[in-house]
Amino acid sequence: MEPIEALERIAFLLERADAPVYRIRAFRNAAAVLSALPPAERERRAATGRFTDLKGIGSTTGKVLAEAAAGRTPGYLADLERDSGGPLAEGGTALRAALRGDCHLHSDWSDGGSPIEAMALAARDAGHRWAVLTDHSPRLRIAHGLTADRLRSQLDAVAELNARLAPFRLLTGIECDILPDGSLDQDDDLLDRLDVVVASAHSELRMAAPAFTRRLLAAVGNPLVDVLGHCTGRLIGDRKRPESTYDAAAVFAACAEGGTAVEINSSPQRLDPPRRLLALARDAGTLFAIDSDAHAPGQLDWQIHGCARAEEAGIPAGRIITTWSADDLLAWTATRRLPSDAPA
Ligand SMILES: [Zn+2]
Ligand SMILES: [Zn+2]
Repeated sequence: MEPIEALERIAFLLERADAPVYRIRAFRNAAAVLSALPPAERERRAATGRFTDLKGIGSTTGKVLAEAAAGRTPGYLADLERDSGGPLAEGGTALRAALRGDCHLHSDWSDGGSPIEAMALAARDAGHRWAVLTDHSPRLRIAHGLTADRLRSQLDAVAELNARLAPFRLLTGIECDILPDGSLDQDDDLLDRLDVVVASAHSELRMAAPAFTRRLLAAVGNPLVDVLGHCTGRLIGDRKRPESTYDAAAVFAACAEGGTAVEINSSPQRLDPPRRLLALARDAGTLFAIDSDAHAPGQLDWQIHGCARAEEAGIPAGRIITTWSADDLLAWTATRRLPSDAPA
């Protein structure tokens, strides 16, 4: 294993295990320091095993590099593979094998930790044919939401990247805030240009149920919205937040009617919707998107959580838009036409 690969694999496994960002940063930073070196310099250091005099390489990362350079599996990595490299969920493997993409991931343009290209490459390495880049909208300032101008320049960056990554396709998108009145936090003409629009509520989540119902009905009834993101807003990890309350039956009926997919958010902090609402959406006849909501490459692996839940709920693969080809997905977002092999 190349020294740099050892660092990247460690970072990936830590992200996948939802480790705190500060523990991961040292490995990602060290990998960046190493990849910025001229190849000859990198080889010279690999030959000598000396790395710790480089700025950004500390004792832990230096030891990993020296072990990898000496042709051994670094101890830190071996421990991590043993403790955190196994399956994340029970079940879901058949559905995971059927997935071709992911409709929800973030880059360092908003609150993600990695560049767009790193996220795209990780999605490709996860076996996907496509993924949708969905950074936050402007009002979410704490997450560095993208202004219209920044989103427009992101579209250029994605086009440039796609020219290099084909046949993998990074589709353009947004995780657009659903404002308290149900309107969307980005210009309509810009939303219309994007391949996929995920709409999620991030503020005023304790609104009274009738008002929250109206808010979500307005969002899912908006023809620009393709996917309703993490529909209850609950958090179930270290930080806890109760579900938003609203008339879920009415909202899912509107999703089924208008052809808006309900997201199965696979983040272990969310697992949203909860099982009873997943069953309600299933019975309402909605489409679904099994999404990672990844903010780092290793978190793309979280989709297995959503696959396990969808499989347990008996949701057929054809109703899950993340099993579709990119062409089928784009035809659907543009016209709401279903793929010919999707169940009616
Ligand atoms: Zn969100
Ligand atoms: Zn998100």
